[in-house]
Amino acid sequence: MNLVEIKNLKTYFYSDEGVSKAVDGISFKIPKGKTVCIVGESGSGKSITSLSIMRLIDYPGEIVEGMILFEGKDLLKLNDKEMRKIRGRDISMIFQEPMTSLNPSYTIGYQIDEALRLHQKHLNKKQRYEKVIESLELVGIHNPREKYREYPFKLSGGQRQRVMIAIAMACEPKMLIADEPTTALDVTIQAQVIDLMKDLQKKKGTSLLFITHDLGVVFQIADEVVVMYKGHIVEKASAKDLFKDPRHPYTKALLHSIPIPGVTPRKSKLDTVDESIDYLSFPKEIR
Ligand code: ADP
Ligand code: MG
Repeated sequence: MNLVEIKNLKTYFYSDEGVSKAVDGISFKIPKGKTVCIVGESGSGKSITSLSIMRLIDYPGEIVEGMILFEGKDLLKLNDKEMRKIRGRDISMIFQEPMTSLNPSYTIGYQIDEALRLHQKHLNKKQRYEKVIESLELVGIHNPREKYREYPFKLSGGQRQRVMIAIAMACEPKMLIADEPTTALDVTIQAQVIDLMKDLQKKKGTSLLFITHDLGVVFQIADEVVVMYKGHIVEKASAKDLFKDPRHPYTKALLHSIPIPGVTPRKSKLDTVDESIDYLSFPKEIR
């Protein structure tokens, strides 16, 4: 069963210099309860894809074509009010920089509570408090009743990222979009955050759209992989097939540019893909 089906999505940016085709006709599916990873170099259109799904594309950007079916309903046809309901309640997003997404002037507890106030209107104040505590515990924050009253600056980067996940998960969304959520964290915390999301997925059956340029992470968590290059999907496959038998020259180049997880140290950047090659000139391998 697919929770989300993206069909021929095009998101363009307009400027005096012309059109930048950030996302140029991509199609892929996100099955219920599974993890889909989008991988690709910086600038390939990963973030614009996730922001398009959330309908958070602003001027001078525009979704010019396509469908984003969520449980069969096209999100692109909803009005702003309907879309706001979906955001947070059905689909949540974790952004890359946890400090900029938390409000420094409000306590941690207040900010998780706010998400519940907005999206779980049937809960009273006391029920919400207990739910905030529960979600802090779920993301592995110790002394949650004390942490409830803390401000973001008192927490470490890893703890702030956990709070962001707690906010994103508090409403028990059907899908969680995580856009490079671990890049700002050190390797140990990265691993913990990833374990946590997988854990929550198992408990709640959440679909996960995980965006990363780190193939080591993809290897670790993906069920399905979408490889993006210059706004296009050049290959999509199960993680198993992709790592065993990459078909597209770009995917092969990417895989050559990374070390093997557990064998050689992980690099943080895909930096050895040959920029003189236009990988779009090869036929797309879509299985
Ligand atoms: P990434 O894969 O690194 O997340 P993005 O999705 O952020 O890449 O961006 C893809 C492309 O979209 C960029 O290379 C850029 O050309 C274009 N783009 C993104 N945001 C803007 C913007 N605000 N104005 C113009 N072009 C943009
Ligand atoms: Mg990005």
